Amino acid sequence: MVHFVGAGPGAVDLITVRGLALLKEADVIVYAGSLVNPELLKAAKEGCKIYNSAYMNLEEVIHVMEEAERMGLMTVRLHTGDPAIYGAIREQMDELEKREIAYDVCPGVSSLFGAAASLGVEYTLPEVSQSVIISRAEGKTPVPRKENLRELASHQATMILFLSSSLAKKVKKELIEGGYREDTPVAVVYKATWPEEKILRTTLQYLPEEMEKEKITKTALIIVGQVLGDTYAKSKLYDSCFTTEFRKGKEV
Ligand code: SAH
Repeated sequence: MVHFVGAGPGAVDLITVRGLALLKEADVIVYAGSLVNPELLKAAKEGCKIYNSAYMNLEEVIHVMEEAERMGLMTVRLHTGDPAIYGAIREQMDELEKREIAYDVCPGVSSLFGAAASLGVEYTLPEVSQSVIISRAEGKTPVPRKENLRELASHQATMILFLSSSLAKKVKKELIEGGYREDTPVAVVYKATWPEEKILRTTLQYLPEEMEKEKITKTALIIVGQVLGDTYAKSKLYDSCFTTEFRKGKEV
């Protein structure tokens, strides 16, 4: 059987309890290169075969899983963050289905949540933004036309951009053309939750220069929106006058 496991954003203790148990049990581990903390691999049992998928193509990854299966071994495919976000797991799962190899997925803490924790922010603030757009600037991988940053910008929702740290100029241009103000707050989190984590706070206007100054060109998230600012409304949930299923609000 093959288990796709989310390794978490970086810090070695941010893998799930289930994920760590699977890692300890694995006969074969195929991990997603430099984005997975190598410390995690120390959990592997003696004799476990470990492959770095940065040097492999899809066929080679599937071949390793197939061979393991043939020998009755258990494989962990270790992906960074949560495998469902830019994990390229669908193509692997489809190949496994074709070969009738059983698999399941163990979720992980995505770097988008690792970054929120490091920044101490809430992505969904009442009267500021109640939606989170997870996207990327178009690079080598095409983005459907209706999802280009200019279109998405019209919502002014909290935006979290993966795989875009080398495209800061494009991000700035498209988001401003799409309707964000130049002074919209932006945070860049490089290697969230890793010991070498770096946080940059700026505005859309200065984003490319600031990233260049800090030499951040990869392994970073660009987070855009007024949730990074100072104004918001308090929640209804904990409002003393608000009645919920569990608590009667005070009369005013
Ligand atoms: N599945 C992963 C994302 C993989 S795509 C997740 O859920 O986090 C790879 C991209 O994720 C990187 O280019 C970068 O934009 C982002 N990323 C991954 N780990 C990160 C981290 N610790 N800090 C900041 N960004 C990270």
